Amino acid sequence: MGDLKTLSVMGMPVHYGDRGDNYADWLLLRQQQGIGSHVVTLNAEMAMQADRNPTLKQLIQRTDLVIPDGAGIVLYFRLKGKTIARAPGIELAETVLERLGPEQSVFFYGGAPGVAEAAAQHWQQRNPKIQIAGVQHGYVTPEEQPAFQERLKVLQPAVILLALGVPRQEFWTVDHRHLCPSAVWIGVGGSFDIWAGLKERAPAWFCNNNLEWLYRLYKEPWRWQRMLDLPKFAIRALTYS
Ligand code: UDP
Repeated sequence: MGDLKTLSVMGMPVHYGDRGDNYADWLLLRQQQGIGSHVVTLNAEMAMQADRNPTLKQLIQRTDLVIPDGAGIVLYFRLKGKTIARAPGIELAETVLERLGPEQSVFFYGGAPGVAEAAAQHWQQRNPKIQIAGVQHGYVTPEEQPAFQERLKVLQPAVILLALGVPRQEFWTVDHRHLCPSAVWIGVGGSFDIWAGLKERAPAWFCNNNLEWLYRLYKEPWRWQRMLDLPKFAIRALTYS
């Protein structure tokens, strides 16, 4: 994969480059060449989900690009003697949207009604040259799915961002990427909520000190149970053979 290299955590790949921003260029170049990509943004919580769900684990093993989204993943590799840069999924998506070529459009799929529109509007202002192919909220009914999928197929966006949560966005991509075979598909979790101004990212100090999870726990205390996966990940990853 060009100048990207691969490491492994709990039997799953993590790709990294010499520069933190390699990923976006790699993805957009492939798209121009007609080669689609699926991006998974791996953190400790997702790694533990995959550990319990073999179908998700297999999906991650076959994904074109797995980036080290979480501090836990980066700390694990550091303990193993390998220093790699953390690559939060939201930042990769932002770099991709800033570097889109004039022919490369983006589709926003996911979030509560109105959120994808607000995220797209945010991007229209941030990058006036951006081509927005369309938006769709994340609660499409089974009856509405065929028409939505036909719409995507006709539009052929270069980049499709999915904010459906893990693992819904990953499974949806694998099941539907044939609709837009040359697109870059990125599962971005709660990023639309942030671009829409509904939620805030942790201040830089928390991010720089690997404490984004602590800020999130303070803002969304009902997530505490999901966060137990962080210490579980440390034990599981270090004892995995
Ligand atoms: N969501 C959605 N459709 C669904 C369930 C969830 O669009 O059927 C959206 C939800 O509105 C939210 C996002 O998925 O914007 C999940 O964000 P979260 O921060 O939970 O992502 P995760 O931490 O799972 O990556």
